[in-house]
Amino acid sequence: MVTITQVEAIPILVPLTTGLTTKTAHGEHIDSPYVVVRVHTDEGITGVGEATLAPRWSGETSPGCVTVIRDLLDPVLRGANALDVNVCRQKIEGALRLNPFTKAAVEMAIWDVAGKAAERPVCRMLGGRLRDELPMKMVVGAFPVEKAVALAQRFLDGGSRHLKVKVGLDPAQDVARVAAVRELAGPDVGISVDGNCGWSVPVACRTLPLLEAFDVRLAEQPIRANDVADWGRLRAATSIPLMADESVFSLADAWRLVSDRAVDVLAIYPGKHGGLLGALEIANLARAAGIVCSMGSNLELGIGTAAMLHLGATAEAIDNETYPGDYLGPLYHEANMITEPLRLGPETAKVPEGPGLGVEIDEDQLDRWRDG
Ligand SMILES: [Mg+2]
Repeated sequence: MVTITQVEAIPILVPLTTGLTTKTAHGEHIDSPYVVVRVHTDEGITGVGEATLAPRWSGETSPGCVTVIRDLLDPVLRGANALDVNVCRQKIEGALRLNPFTKAAVEMAIWDVAGKAAERPVCRMLGGRLRDELPMKMVVGAFPVEKAVALAQRFLDGGSRHLKVKVGLDPAQDVARVAAVRELAGPDVGISVDGNCGWSVPVACRTLPLLEAFDVRLAEQPIRANDVADWGRLRAATSIPLMADESVFSLADAWRLVSDRAVDVLAIYPGKHGGLLGALEIANLARAAGIVCSMGSNLELGIGTAAMLHLGATAEAIDNETYPGDYLGPLYHEANMITEPLRLGPETAKVPEGPGLGVEIDEDQLDRWRDG
């Protein structure tokens, strides 16, 4: 038994690297108001987690995350055995509705404790890795053509073989951006697009067929789509495979999408689904439906990305080869909050090998970027 003695939440504010701030249909991403979580135990083992918060994404804020961890999750988890991750998850779910990124941070830290106690990486705790290296992509924001091309050039010069181009704003500019990136990249680089809910259904139905000429591998959440019929209209309009991202947070969301055959791919990652267990449930549901998943991202730092890597190495349904994952957040930030940088890129991301999540908090970085 490894008893939890405290769940600590530390707000941080980390800027994106100059020149790498990004832009989507949700707005610009300039800095990251996240929360680092530490789960302390009576054995002296401390687990770490990261809440990758974006109000426009999940409705969660950094102060809100700190408050609910202090007032709701810390009290129910004190005294619990960190080795019983399923029990801890029930306590978390029983204390708080929604708030997936906050829950994921706490669950992540509990997995880290459990893995460190067992002296095994989290992916071993989840049944063992299927892959050591995970193909990844870089994201080109929804900027004017010239800036988008310069960014794509930077990533290609660095050795990237897959790019995700953000769209979902002005359709003519969106098409011009994708066309320019394809022209620059040549035929061998994989390109996908992400609309972040930005287009209406009619605009998406008109615009996606125009992107087919640029060999777009995947169209991620072009529309808001709470309604499966909207996905159906889009599917009839284009041959580009469709991926749900903002439409799938909960297991019930995933159930609706797969049972109605609404999309070809589900974007999953620990934060969006309240933790590794929630993400695995959705991955397994996708398997049952005969579709695949791709690793999404909310621009995590080192701890959150480590959790993604353990999931990406483990879940059978995550097709990293066809749809390279978003193992990229630390590459966009000024600091990653961990002592040893993850091995990310240019073509693949490597799964950390140490016990637990395989990362340690850098206390100097934590002091420097602490936000209150
Ligand atoms: Mg997305």
